[in-house]
Amino acid sequence: MNISDKKYCNNLTAYSRFITKEVIIGNIGIGGNNPIRLQSMTTTDTMNTIATVEQSIKMIEAGCELVRITAPSINEAKNLANIKKELHARGYKTPLIADIHFTPNAAEVAARIVEKVRINPGNFADKKKFQSLEYTDTEYNEELNRIREKFSPLVKICKEYGTAIRIGTNHGSLSDRIMSRYGDSPMGMVMSAFEFLDIAEDLGYGNIVLSMKSSNTQVMVQAYRLLVHEMMKTGRKYPLHLGVTEAGDGEDGRIKSAIGIGTLLEDGLGDTIRVSLTEDPELEIPVAKILADRYSSKRLTPVVPSIKENPINPFNYSKRKTISIINIGGTKVPVVVADCSIEREINQASFIPLGYIYDETSDKWNISDTAADYIFTGIHHVNFEIPGTLGLIQNYKVWLNNTGDKNRFPLFTTTEFLSESVFSNSLNFIKISIDEFSDSFLEKLEQQNNCVLVITSNHINGMIQQRRLMFELLNENISTPVIFKREYNHLNTDELSLHSATDFGALLLDGFGDGIWLKADNQLAQNVNRLCFGILQGCRQRISKTEYISCPSCGRTLFDLQETTAKIRAVTNHLKGVKIAIMGCIVNGPGEMADADYGYVGSGPGKITLYKGKDIMKRSINTETAVDELINLIKENGDWIEI
Ligand code: SF4
Repeated sequence: MNISDKKYCNNLTAYSRFITKEVIIGNIGIGGNNPIRLQSMTTTDTMNTIATVEQSIKMIEAGCELVRITAPSINEAKNLANIKKELHARGYKTPLIADIHFTPNAAEVAARIVEKVRINPGNFADKKKFQSLEYTDTEYNEELNRIREKFSPLVKICKEYGTAIRIGTNHGSLSDRIMSRYGDSPMGMVMSAFEFLDIAEDLGYGNIVLSMKSSNTQVMVQAYRLLVHEMMKTGRKYPLHLGVTEAGDGEDGRIKSAIGIGTLLEDGLGDTIRVSLTEDPELEIPVAKILADRYSSKRLTPVVPSIKENPINPFNYSKRKTISIINIGGTKVPVVVADCSIEREINQASFIPLGYIYDETSDKWNISDTAADYIFTGIHHVNFEIPGTLGLIQNYKVWLNNTGDKNRFPLFTTTEFLSESVFSNSLNFIKISIDEFSDSFLEKLEQQNNCVLVITSNHINGMIQQRRLMFELLNENISTPVIFKREYNHLNTDELSLHSATDFGALLLDGFGDGIWLKADNQLAQNVNRLCFGILQGCRQRISKTEYISCPSCGRTLFDLQETTAKIRAVTNHLKGVKIAIMGCIVNGPGEMADADYGYVGSGPGKITLYKGKDIMKRSINTETAVDELINLIKENGDWIEI
């Protein structure tokens, strides 16, 4: 594949925004040279005008530039007029977006009132049956004609009223028709949007924004890239709305969002973003702002050599093949390296925040599921026995005193690597940045066994440098494992998690990296360690805890999502690797919960339906007993572990 077969962004070696056409939504533009717009969605009942207005105002005051409101039926769609009127009366002219699923008639009402309508092509004209039907070409075309009939009236209204449309594909809710032809794939997501786009274009309408959301960051990134690739082939340049669906709450939700959204922003893609958190919607905006602010016109880009060919397939995840050295590389999960080098002295207590607790009585170490695999101790001499599963990385000169210890390994600077001749027989770490990569380095690397490269960058936007060096290794057929190292010593806690998840995530989602090493001297060691494991889990590379897929809630939600998510998390957070979806409504929940193992879905006031995968296991049980029933279901399926 040459670069044009895989082109999905302007440039892989310098930040360059993919300029899309400008779409006007009320008083603001999306795409073109407009800044990346921030948006969120209300969680109130749309029929409650005042509650929705007040929540919208909180969002707007927090910096939300477009407010999305659900319109599950004609009544809610009509009430958007009252909401808009009240917002205007209070001095807020922020554009409103109606969120539509299954109800074309509600969309047609809303399109006459608000500035933009979001439709889901997977359920606008289809009821999902989770069937794998076979369609002949004739049947498939008949289906497309049916969609045309259902969608055309909305397009005509939008054209008349100057209303924009977002064609918002969700990975979890592709139609049976699309699934039958393209499967549950990024290409299926793109084609799902294109079916509707073709109809709109045929009607001479192009006021369109596109999105390709998924709760799986790998799928989400591939789908957006493929969308741009396909648009480039046909000269289309529609603006992109970016988001990771059902990202969850707290730090995990932020990390997952940053991995997906940040990776695409690094590619120069994205005109508007929504961070979907199971939290109050105004709390999403500061997160979105931190993500978007890195890509302002003042962004500094490091200079790296350009490339003629992209050596990876950006539409299909494939991990770079590396040799295996101890527990690094090959088919092993990526390792986490903790950094203790700044400590004044190192003793057993220094390892507690990193997952190792020494019990003096039994003279044993207790090791947590999220214990760092390696600890860098820099210049320190460590004079006690360390846990057998842990590796210590020491500066080369310090390690020279410990060459006989099987768990201690040297870290060479590039200069030391080129000039020294004493190496560990088992594992050597070599720190290198793109500027230090040379023919002589390559030559020595080829002669020396058991090396792991620690690829660093000191540039604030250094992902491009690290990725460029990875391209070089691929082109040279070097299969040495790689650990990415970044230092962020001046960021606050939110900035740290969002910037680092973006920077590491962008590399990991391209299949690069056998480990990560994050240094943040102004943060607590346990937080940095937890963040590293969170990033690896968010990229689906190393599962160390329960995965929660929870919807952000909206006007359709049938229970308190934040409270319920916290309740379920409290009793299941020891179930490493189990994926639990907590979804507010049965209309969208089952489709949107993607590849969750268990689903807890609101199915009526005070009622919950429980799923195992896509299958209903317990229908309409009372909310009071639903969490216990969920535990029973997990037990019945053998996924429960007693603490
Ligand atoms: S799944 Fe959640 S966010 Fe989506 S429509 Fe239902 S309640 Fe709203």
